[in-house]
This record gives sequence, C-alpha cells and structure tokens, in this order.
Amino acid sequence: MRRSAGRKVTGNCELLEKDKTYLWHPFTPMEQWLAGDELVIEAGEGFELIDTQGRRYIDAMSSLWCNLHGHRVPQIDAAVRGQLDKIAHSTLLGLASIPSIELAERLVRISPEPLKKVFYSDSGATAVEIALKMAFQYCHNRGEDSRRRFLALRGGYHGDTLGAVSVSGIETFHGLFRPLLFEATFVDTPNPYHNPAGEHAGEVVLKQIDEALAAAPGEYCAVIVEPLIQAAGGMLTHPAGFLRGLRRLTQTHDVLLIADEVATGFCRTGRLFACQHEDVAPDLMCLGKGLSGGYLPVAATLARQEIFDAFCGETAEGRTFYHGHTFTGNALGCAAAVASIDLIFQSDLLAALGEKVELMQKRLGELADHPHVGDVRQCGMMVGIELVADRQSRQPFEPQQRLGAALCRHGRKFSLMLRPLGDVVVLMPAPAMDLDTLQRMMTAVIDTIHDYFETQLV
Ligand code: PLP
Repeated sequence: MRRSAGRKVTGNCELLEKDKTYLWHPFTPMEQWLAGDELVIEAGEGFELIDTQGRRYIDAMSSLWCNLHGHRVPQIDAAVRGQLDKIAHSTLLGLASIPSIELAERLVRISPEPLKKVFYSDSGATAVEIALKMAFQYCHNRGEDSRRRFLALRGGYHGDTLGAVSVSGIETFHGLFRPLLFEATFVDTPNPYHNPAGEHAGEVVLKQIDEALAAAPGEYCAVIVEPLIQAAGGMLTHPAGFLRGLRRLTQTHDVLLIADEVATGFCRTGRLFACQHEDVAPDLMCLGKGLSGGYLPVAATLARQEIFDAFCGETAEGRTFYHGHTFTGNALGCAAAVASIDLIFQSDLLAALGEKVELMQKRLGELADHPHVGDVRQCGMMVGIELVADRQSRQPFEPQQRLGAALCRHGRKFSLMLRPLGDVVVLMPAPAMDLDTLQRMMTAVIDTIHDYFETQLV
C-alpha cells in the first residue's frame, strides 16, 4: 500500500498547504493534486470566481453546472438571510415547513403538467435514487412484482450512489463497482458521433429499446434517461425526436419514464426543462443542481398523481415509501430555491436565452476547422468540444496524456475556469450570464484552445 501521510506537499499559500494536508477532493486524482499548484477560491462576484490572490476567472462551468444567476445574487442572498432569521432547518419527517411548501407549489406549477407531488432530497444522486426506488415500489404496490428491471443508456450518468451508478453507463467511473450494483439493461447512446449508426443512431437505439422491452414483457419497471443530452458522458446530444420516441415506447410497454433533469433542468437547454422541447411529460422527474440557483444542496423527485396514489392506504398495507434524509427539505435550501425560481421569471431569463445560445453557436463555428477539434456539440447553453489527436480519423489522444485536463488548466492564463470530461471541454455558463461576459468567455475559450496547441503540445 502506498503511503501519502507525511508526504511533503507543495502549495502557493498556507491555506493550500492545509487543503493538501486535510482534504480528499471528489473526482480528483489526488497524487497530481498534491503535486500541483492549485487555486483556492475565496469569493465570487457575478459570473466570476476570485481566488485568494485576488485573481478573477470567468466561471465557464457555473460551479459544476449548478449556478444559474451568478454568484452573490442580492435576491437569493436576502432570501437565505431572511430564512436564517427564522430557522435554518427542521425535519420534514412528520412535520411541515413553510419554505418546503412554497417551493413544492412552485415546482408543481412550472413542471410538465402531470407531475403533482414533490419528494425532496439533497443531491442529484439522491433524487435519482428516490426515483428508482419509487418506480420499483410503485410496481410492487400495484401487485406487479415481476417488474423489477431498469433500462438505461450507455454513456449516461445519474450520480455516484450505488443505485444511481447501477443505471449509469460510464465505464471509467463505474466499472469497478459493478459487483456491488443491481443489474440493468443498457442500450447504446443515440449520439450520432459516438454511435456507429451515425445520423440514424436515434432510430437504431429506439429499436434496441423496443426489442429489449418486448423481449421481457412485464419485467421492466422503468427507463431512465437524461433528456436531450447525456451531460457527464461527454455532452452527448441526442437526435431530435429521440425523447418523444422513447416516451411513446415506454407507454406502449407500460413502463415508467424517469427523466433525469438534474443537469438539464432550469434553463440550461433553452427551455425551463429539456423535456419541454419535445412535449414529453415523464412519470418521474429528478431535479438538483440549479434548483437552488446553485446556492445550496437541494434536490427533488417529482411524481405523477397515480404514482403517489399507489403509496396511499392503511399503514398495515405496507404501501408507505420508507425513504428520507436528515436534511430532506432543508429550510435554507428551499428558501434559496424559491428565490431562484422567482428570479427566473422576474428577470425573464428564458426570453433572453435565444440570443445567448446563438452567440455561443456562432463563436463555436470559429473552431470548426481546428485540427484537434473533433466534434462540437451544443444543446442550448450546454456545450462539449471534443479534442482529438487527429480530426480526420477521429483518433483520440492517449488517455494518460490527460489532455482535456491540461488544456482546461491552461485556460487559467486566459482568466477562464473550466473543467473537462476526459478530452471534452465543457462549457456550461450560468444561463443568466450577460452577453458581454459570454462574449469574453467565448474569446477566452477559443484563445485557450489555439494557444494550448500552439505553445504547449510538442
Ligand atoms: N444526474 C445527472 C444528469 C447529473 O449530471 C448529475 C451530476 O452531474 C447527477 C445526476 C448527480 O448529481 P449530484 O452530483 O448532485 O449527486
């Protein structure tokens, strides 16, 4: 076993030394972290992060895809402070609370019509975990115990708890844990660049799903999907009509559809929810990340009335959903979420998105001929720029080069805060980012890519 305790750490300040002494960072190769010159963020303002040296960076990943309106937004700050003057937290187990009621009412009002009930939790993964368990128990409560199987897409990501991992299809993250997981059926990603069927990928994958569901009648309880785009899988966009086709199939086979809108929800795709692009109403919908404007860990699983009804009855009937977390429906988080949702409408955020999406699309066109840009995918304000060793053959870089990570780090020279997914550079700015900052961000992204390949890659 390798020892890290007592290893000499390097750092640009005392705080970083302490970080390296005491912290274990998520999704981070720690050996490299301990050796690197890392940044410590001290503050945020608008769409910028400010480090302990006072340097500013455009937050091009909206603090891991959750920030909506920028940092230190007066309305959300005030809502959290106001709630703090009343109470920070009280449990929802056997008690109600004002902010959780106010938020649930808003969520039902703004979500696809048949979704009527809100079950809170505290992260995207827990929202998914809850949807899976609800779907499973819903079938049980209806006397359909044979419906135990889930179907999911390769390249999908639904979080890091074991249930969510069971339906996630990213081998690098999840392969090792397979022995701990329940078995799910996987079909290919419908992304045309990553599916051998190319432009026919959508139809081919729908056929695979149809066949899988038909081959095991009465055995599937749900299909889970990230609507329109598989985010953590590398910003894998889906062909138009795929989601609608999937909804049709789940209805034909009497299987629930779980829409995981943790990444896509709250304006990222150009609509409030990605499902709305294809007029799809899921049976269960998972929300997280942007739900609180990116302020606090709040998540929710929304369910149709029929699903909720199947959990009602005499206690002795055993229909109750025995699931919950200590901080379920946390008052501070719900107050932030209420303020964030109100701000989406007060600031007419959705109406302003079209111009921003177009600006990004136009600027991304400048990378079209770059020899190391293989594919550029965009869904609203969610973008993936795939870096390749050779554009023609689509030959990837060697994984051990960790090229995406190196290039994103290079972005700091251009005052840009990026985080890649493998060799895919991700852009997911806050939907409220103003046009000037967005323009600056895009210039910095393009400069970073050109400069990196001209000066760093030998
Ligand atoms: N679902 C999707 C689609 C996600 O993109 C993520 C996180 O990136 C999750 C679930 C998990 O969310 P969390 O990191 O809050 O657990």
